Amino acid sequence: MRIALVAATARGRAAADELAKAWPDRASIVDGPAGDALRTAFTTYDQVVAFLAVGATVRVLAPLLDHKATDPPVVCVDESHRYAVAVLGTHHGAADLARAVTTVLGGEPVITTASESADVTPLDSFAAHLGLRVADPAPLPQVATAVLSGAPVRLDNPDRWPLPPLPPNVSPTAENPAAIIRVGPAAPREHPEPPPAPSATARAPAAPPVTDGAARPGAGGSDVSRETVLEYAAPELVVGVGSARGVSAAEVDELIDTVVRASGRNPASLRALATIDLKEDEPGIVEAARRRGLKLITYPAVALASEDVPTPSETVRAAVGTPSVAEAAALRAARDAGRAAELLVAKHTTAHATAALARLWPRGRLALVGLGPGDPELLTPAARTELARASDVVGLGQYLDQVRGLLRTGTAVHASGLGQEEERARTAVRLASEGRAVALVGSGDAGVYAMAAPALEMAGPDLDVVGVPGITAATAASGLLGAALGHDHVLISLSDLHTPWPVIERRVRAAAEADLVVCFYNPRSRGRDWQLGHAMDLLAAHRPPGTPVGYVREATRPEQRVTLTTLRDFDPSEVDMRTVVIVGSSQSRLIAGRFVTPRGYRWADT
Ligand code: SAH
Repeated sequence: MRIALVAATARGRAAADELAKAWPDRASIVDGPAGDALRTAFTTYDQVVAFLAVGATVRVLAPLLDHKATDPPVVCVDESHRYAVAVLGTHHGAADLARAVTTVLGGEPVITTASESADVTPLDSFAAHLGLRVADPAPLPQVATAVLSGAPVRLDNPDRWPLPPLPPNVSPTAENPAAIIRVGPAAPREHPEPPPAPSATARAPAAPPVTDGAARPGAGGSDVSRETVLEYAAPELVVGVGSARGVSAAEVDELIDTVVRASGRNPASLRALATIDLKEDEPGIVEAARRRGLKLITYPAVALASEDVPTPSETVRAAVGTPSVAEAAALRAARDAGRAAELLVAKHTTAHATAALARLWPRGRLALVGLGPGDPELLTPAARTELARASDVVGLGQYLDQVRGLLRTGTAVHASGLGQEEERARTAVRLASEGRAVALVGSGDAGVYAMAAPALEMAGPDLDVVGVPGITAATAASGLLGAALGHDHVLISLSDLHTPWPVIERRVRAAAEADLVVCFYNPRSRGRDWQLGHAMDLLAAHRPPGTPVGYVREATRPEQRVTLTTLRDFDPSEVDMRTVVIVGSSQSRLIAGRFVTPRGYRWADT
């Protein structure tokens, strides 16, 4: 991703410098008279940030505009950096770019598209993160209007792609729909449901693959006009290719066309080209994959030999050690990317190549999203993005209230109470297994004393899991105190709910002996009031009484309280469950009123 920065004034130039410094790998300043620089930026970069008036920008770019899906997104920033305006390509990156600009320069993103202001998932980039592509953009405006106006819209998603939410007027059962949104091909499915066993070893069903060139029927059975059926090509196809040495890219390319045509599916649904590892450098295959933007996936012969295929060949086995390359590789790669797969088109052969086509059923999606310690500024942009993608959000009621404003219209919220962790994890995994896009949220990082582990203990291979890291209470507190975690440290939870006390005690003792900085989570509750004092005594046996101790209650929340003291003066009764306590190592010091753990030991001093 290359971002061009264009400025005309000194202030604009200063802000451009600041952005270039913040994004050194991505952003560069395009010099020259503003008009020329803007034209160069627009025609040769992926994204443009212009420190110019919207009007001036539009006048320069107007003759260059082509299509919103292919033009680079453009953001204009006003002279005082109060606003970053998504001017062109809002749903193709400009909205995100505008937000990103304001995280560096301050100010507010200005986004003026209808769906953005109504918090409705935009249709032109709908589920782009899953690889979905609009098959034909012509019906977009009409279907988007139907969605936003509240008219009944039917959503056909027979394979259960884990789609982002849409408003409640969009549903699989909408009657007399004004429009239809369809994910995947329109043709009636011979196998509407995938084979049952979603395990890693699931086999393809013994479906009769299409072996001739007969295309399946096109968009049939619709009760609305063509203009109001919006079809998305889902990345459900994998082409398997085998070849003789020296095959041309053109031959491979044509053969891919043949098998895709035979399937009746949209060529935009191809997601990968799979082959045997012997062919990973075969120029014709590599080039054919590159031209179509397909990922090249290779497998060793032994992996392919174990696939059940319709057209095995002993000649092929003798040559490369597996009776099938094209069919086996297609099937294997499709299954690896989905919860199940089937061979759709059996082997087709030309003079120097073979190809076969497999399709997959997608996995449900489980995002484990850390919300940070409290302050919305400490919720990462990645977490915001995931929350906007979720059809279902699962979490503790108090955290869900924090993020409700970030959810798209139509998101189902599953709130639960304190102590219902197992139920929360179970709900999230069940919904994701049903093919939904689930965000399981927790404060701090979702993987630190939180929901990620219980959820993943229950989750099978039929899910795609996305971990979105969060800023933890420990790092937030360390930063508020100074640089408390500046050198080796350990987190220890003092809650004996999940761990027996003797185990906790053993860990505290070990940390004391190892001279680690210790950060205590869950330090003290009404029913658990002696453990913290006891743990501090264990540490005090190994470090000086003047060792810094810092504790932060409600870090980064309005009621935040930061306290800095020493082992000698520490009073456990000041601490409760909304607090983390950080105890320094023997090297930690108070420097100018800040808790600092120097990086490394200064040997000369010890
Ligand atoms: N996943 C969280 C931890 C949850 S366990 C994280 O990554 O930080 C709950 C414990 O975390 C609380 O008992 C408290 O010790 C600590 N905690 C969470 N948020 C806090 C905050 N804002 N300020 C202080 N302590 C916090």
